[in-house]
Amino acid sequence: MIANGVPMVFRPVEGRLTGMIGYVLGDPDEGLAVVVDPPGGETELILALLAESGMRLVMVLRTHVHANDADNCAALCERTGALLVAGEAVRAKASAVRRVVDDDVLTFGVQSIRVLATPGHTSNCVSYLWDDRLMCGDMFDLSTCSAEGSEANPAALYDSLTRRIFPLPDQVLVFPAHAMKARRVAMLAELRARLTPVLGRGRDAFITEMAARLGSAPAMTGVSRSC
Ligand SMILES: [Zn+2]
Repeated sequence: MIANGVPMVFRPVEGRLTGMIGYVLGDPDEGLAVVVDPPGGETELILALLAESGMRLVMVLRTHVHANDADNCAALCERTGALLVAGEAVRAKASAVRRVVDDDVLTFGVQSIRVLATPGHTSNCVSYLWDDRLMCGDMFDLSTCSAEGSEANPAALYDSLTRRIFPLPDQVLVFPAHAMKARRVAMLAELRARLTPVLGRGRDAFITEMAARLGSAPAMTGVSRSC
């Protein structure tokens, strides 16, 4: 793909055991890359992809971290010297961490990535908008992917969807951290149309419905489901 006039690498990496999907964004000319939500167990694959393209990993971006996540990419950061990027209050073991807030801009080479604060699935979720691509973690997993109970906040999720995500252009491509009903990418216009019936009933009704879903959601065992 071309972004900012530069040929770019955009490579999804799906965890074989977890189903988690991470994304490598790279500028082969500059030799720089970042990865969003690298799946556990796929570090060697990611390093091989970078080596093959002669790219150096400069940032590891997390959309969110659950309380039961093991090490939050500290090992990958240490091996590559990459900066860990995460929302405020996210647990982080890496030695170099950048905390991001809404509307921060991350740069690598001539590329820029805009940070959107999108709490809801967890209280510290952020999304990353790069060119026409939005990496939003489990934003559209309207239940939970936590193995140890819900960390979700339906009121915050409603506000994030209506104020931060759906005002973006229709043609934005949404790339989730887990497949959404077997889909690995969707246009924002499609997701907006799908959720308009439930969002349109208002904030209080949305909170009530999500709370009911969360209350009846069975505990997960490491593999997330879609909404
Ligand atoms: Zn999650």
